[in-house]
Amino acid sequence: MKIFNTLSRRKEEFVPLTPGKVKMYVCGPTVYNLIHIGNARPMIVFDTVRRYFEYKGYEVQYVSNFTDVDDKIIKRALEEGVDARVISDRYIEECKKDMASLNVKPATVHPQATQEIDGMLSMIQTLIDKGHAYVAKDGTVYFRVSSFKEYGKLSRKNLEELQSGFRELKVTGEEDKEDPNDFVLWKPKKEGEPYWESPWCEGRPGWHIECSVMAKHYLGDEIDIHAGGEDLIFPHHENEIAQSECANDKTFAKYWMHNGFLNIDNKKMSKSLGNFFTVREIGEKYDLQVLRFFMLSAHYRSPLNFSADLMEASKNGLERILTCMEKLKSLEEAAAGSAETCAEQESLAQAEKLKEKYEAAMEDDFNTADAVSAVFELVKLANSTADSSSTKAYVSALRQLIDRLCDVLGIITERKAEILDSEIEAMIEERQQARKAKNFALADEIRGKLLDMGIALEDTREGVKWKRV
Ligand code: AMP
Ligand code: ZN
Repeated sequence: MKIFNTLSRRKEEFVPLTPGKVKMYVCGPTVYNLIHIGNARPMIVFDTVRRYFEYKGYEVQYVSNFTDVDDKIIKRALEEGVDARVISDRYIEECKKDMASLNVKPATVHPQATQEIDGMLSMIQTLIDKGHAYVAKDGTVYFRVSSFKEYGKLSRKNLEELQSGFRELKVTGEEDKEDPNDFVLWKPKKEGEPYWESPWCEGRPGWHIECSVMAKHYLGDEIDIHAGGEDLIFPHHENEIAQSECANDKTFAKYWMHNGFLNIDNKKMSKSLGNFFTVREIGEKYDLQVLRFFMLSAHYRSPLNFSADLMEASKNGLERILTCMEKLKSLEEAAAGSAETCAEQESLAQAEKLKEKYEAAMEDDFNTADAVSAVFELVKLANSTADSSSTKAYVSALRQLIDRLCDVLGIITERKAEILDSEIEAMIEERQQARKAKNFALADEIRGKLLDMGIALEDTREGVKWKRV
């Protein structure tokens, strides 16, 4: 199996640290808001990587954190007049719901930064003791970048270049830094912020230290794969390497994987451009299986453009698979139980070749785009060969194969149960009664339930209209 390693900028053969096991760490979101569809890309991509390893028989330990202490969380808490914990708890729950809708498996562990402070204090102390970190006058602890000769090896940045870039950018409050490249491991609290006791000052951790500590805690000093979006290569992952390798004296991660960015209509996604979508918003228009299928239609390292047209194309593609699976299922139920015919055996040999094609694509740095093409070829084979004269064994073998290969991509091949028009009408009537009785909470709840089932309501002068979305 070949993986493109950002560290070497080459595809390398995957050799696990321990035979049969994979230790993976994937940087997770900062929980101050609902996740956006850009955040969903690493979740879907690396969940698929995990699923493929499991398909190959590996035991995968998959760790993905929630950053639950951060400036943005604190800002949101101040705006709402609540504790930062309220914000992070709320958005961790919401994020887990979105992950479930995207059929992203829960990680083996989802650690939270605020639960790992002891580990952070201990790693920071080790770095100070070894001369890799120092304490400034105000109690801030900085990592001494010049003490790690390999600094820049992941991002291929050289220190002199970085220094000249920084010369003009003296940040106030950071005068005590020995070198502009040095980064914060621990910083003093500010008024109204969450803080913890430490030997240096009451304060909170820098962002980078949390991932080094959580990876060590749950996976050990050396891990197989460390992953995240490409924006994390510098400084986040570069700094994680510096911290972990200086503290543990071991190579931190063997393979570094980074997904490309998701853009909207060929522009960077941003709130100010008004082209920013949460997963929740997309879930109102599409089954989120479509979003997952769309994300896997491109190679994970390529930039990916999100547009209504491309989503429609993905919806149609997914529909083709689901329709085929429905047909296979009903044929299977009706078919007789005799052994496969010679012609069927030939078709199954062809199907086996397509399975090999699928695996070859996945083993070439997880080329899900080509793997999806192999699934479409299987669907074509099934559509052209399976009919009411087929044997049960044949139809069943095809159905199980397509189902298994889709499952590795996290695609559920069973169509969601259709809700009958009469059931919808009955629920709308119930909502109208609730509104009449001024029970708006119940009315909203019914509307929400219908939306979950893919039914959108519109209140018009002529009454309530509904459509399937
Ligand atoms: P954040 O909450 O910003 O730390 O992001 C969580 C994860 O989402 C990181 O792995 C980011 O690299 C990734 N990410 C954020 N925005 C995008 C985007 N537009 N496209 C792809 N990945 C993204
Ligand atoms: Zn991280």
